[in-house]
Amino acid sequence: MHVALVTVGDEILNGETTNTNAAWLGRQLQGFGVTVGRMAAVPDSVSDIARVVNEYHAEYDAVIVTGGLGPTPDDMTMKGVAAAFGTELAHDEEVTQWLESEKGYSNDDLAPKTTHVPKQATMLPNPEGVAPGCVIEKAYVLPGVPAEMKAMFQEVADEFSGEQTYVETVRTPEPESHLLDRIVTVQEEFDVSVGSYPGEDVRLRVEGTSEKTVSGAVSWLQERVEPTE
Ligand code: ATP
Ligand code: MG
Repeated sequence: MHVALVTVGDEILNGETTNTNAAWLGRQLQGFGVTVGRMAAVPDSVSDIARVVNEYHAEYDAVIVTGGLGPTPDDMTMKGVAAAFGTELAHDEEVTQWLESEKGYSNDDLAPKTTHVPKQATMLPNPEGVAPGCVIEKAYVLPGVPAEMKAMFQEVADEFSGEQTYVETVRTPEPESHLLDRIVTVQEEFDVSVGSYPGEDVRLRVEGTSEKTVSGAVSWLQERVEPTE
């Protein structure tokens, strides 16, 4: 399964908020064997959201959108997602019932837009907050507040699955440019992919669908690269 993530919010683009939602979702999905093919951050703008959701919907098995829910004027996500699917927002009776029964609101207290989700969407209850999410055509719309996003994602997590992969790491102080021949050869000898991530030392990340093959490739590398102390 190939998935794309869209995080919405001016505050992500201007650096005021660190995009921990994308990182957390990336880790979760990786754990399920799901490949994340794109992560986009877009401003609070209906047309930007609509364009990227529409594009990713065409290319990926599912799209996860976080942030910009709720009825305040800067919350554009529901509108943008509706536009991506050529539809509009509408009152959803299920949202009203959920807000009344689970969150203690009475229908008269609710600002009109509080109950709006795109037509044809199924609402997703928010276990930690009051803005509901929704799912429409394999686009999952989740809140921006990390605790709310995580809680809502858990409710739909079993809809994300893929081939389990195994990851092991080898560290070496050798410069990356010296390692190229061994990185190429190990991938020819074993059915694994190797990523190289320089930092204080170089981290070689070995990934494959067979645990045995991954350990074989790791032993092969360990015999041939200088180890980090
Ligand atoms: P609310 O209904 O409370 O308005 P929301 O779904 O509209 O929630 P946002 O308004 O987009 O969420 O963001 C609320 C807060 O959540 C932000 O101020 C920020 O602290 C945090 N947040 C939003 N997006 C992210 C993100 N991608 N990574 C980490 N934190 C985020
Ligand atoms: Mg908001």
